[in-house]
Amino acid sequence: MISALDGVIAQTVAPAALAVDRTGAFPSSSIQELAQAGLGGLLMPASLGGCETSTATYAEALSRIAAACGSTSTVYMTQMHCAHPIHLQGRPDQHTRWIPAICRGTAIGAIALTEPGAGSDVATMRTTARRDGDSYTINGEKTFISNGDVADVIVLFATVDPSLGKDGITAFLVDTANTVGLEAGKPMKKLGQKGASTVTLSFQDCRIPAAARLGDEGEGYPLLLRSVTKSRISAAAQGIGFAQGAFDDTVRYCAERDLLSSRTRAAQDLQFELARLRAETAAGRSMLREVCDLVDASDEDPTAEVAMVKMHCTALGVRVASACVELLGEDGDRDDMGAERRLRDGKITEIYDGTNQVQSMLVARDIRISATV
Ligand SMILES: Cc1cc2nc3c(=O)[nH]c(=O)nc-3n(C[C@H](O)[C@H](O)[C@H](O)COP(=O)(O)OP(=O)(O)OC[C@H]3O[C@@H](n4cnc5c(N)ncnc54)[C@H](O)[C@@H]3O)c2cc1C
Repeated sequence: MISALDGVIAQTVAPAALAVDRTGAFPSSSIQELAQAGLGGLLMPASLGGCETSTATYAEALSRIAAACGSTSTVYMTQMHCAHPIHLQGRPDQHTRWIPAICRGTAIGAIALTEPGAGSDVATMRTTARRDGDSYTINGEKTFISNGDVADVIVLFATVDPSLGKDGITAFLVDTANTVGLEAGKPMKKLGQKGASTVTLSFQDCRIPAAARLGDEGEGYPLLLRSVTKSRISAAAQGIGFAQGAFDDTVRYCAERDLLSSRTRAAQDLQFELARLRAETAAGRSMLREVCDLVDASDEDPTAEVAMVKMHCTALGVRVASACVELLGEDGDRDDMGAERRLRDGKITEIYDGTNQVQSMLVARDIRISATV
């Protein structure tokens, strides 16, 4: 599986990355090639077109895609972030309608939670879903939605009653082709991940069938808590990928200038700095693997461990990419050197999927006298 992935990365994803960053074009061909190689739904069951891989294998695959192209990695992981809650809570007909198509890349998925006034604190969301016979009427606005303008299906979180707080949150599957009153804004101009479109979504009196509800009313919040485990692992994997991508490009640059074998004092300083970055990245990768195994094996709530790996690996990606920009000297400022792109692409991983401050809060809450780490 990983060798097939490396083939698609070398043939398609990596060669397109610079142009995707410069033009902001959606990385369709990379996503399609990954799907056609059977790699579109790693975590999904084989019966639904997926590969049934472990979380650790998914994270390794995503980190390799991120090392090559940050935009592609975000579109790719968003497919999984959409398929995962459908798999967790969907009925069999909802599974078969959407998951195989997402795995094949014939459907693009999105997940819509964040609102202009409700990001970290989702319980304050204001997008409403009012039951009216056999349908719900949706009104409200979502923002910063990855894949939102190109999505065929959106896992939407709305409230059936804002006064209920988190207990009113309910999930729906929005079939974008058949939903009147749904409008996507233009892709936002961003610091990095420029080809991964991020948009606002406006819902104005959108009628969606009651059968499109994912689970029961009020079951959206617990679903969300189960879903973020995998999406935070995704952000952590991207962090490792950005660190590795920046490191590899910097090593290539140094090798071309004989800086890896030189014994001058300046070259040795550079070699020692590369050694430190390599060790830091290897440690982050090990931590990620360990937490992925915990997520798959444990019946215990892995919230704190997932929060720790998310904040650690996303910060690592930024730190290593930034150090690589410095090692490259003035060339570090050039977009075709790679480190600069990984630095820009990496910064947002510290913010999305729950900011690193919010992750710190989750870890702090879990600190007890008996805690071993
Ligand atoms: C490129 C990109 C893609 C995204 N994709 C999606 C997507 O596909 N779907 C989706 O639903 N959302 C998406 N988001 C939204 C993202 O998940 C949110 O931006 C993020 O959760 C933070 O919410 P916020 O921006 O509203 O910040 P706020 O919640 O307003 O936070 C602002 C600041 O206050 C801090 N803060 C907030 N609460 C606390 C607290 N209790 N303790 C300490 N500090 C706190 C935060 O850390 C942050 O620094 C995306 C965002 C970006 C930028």
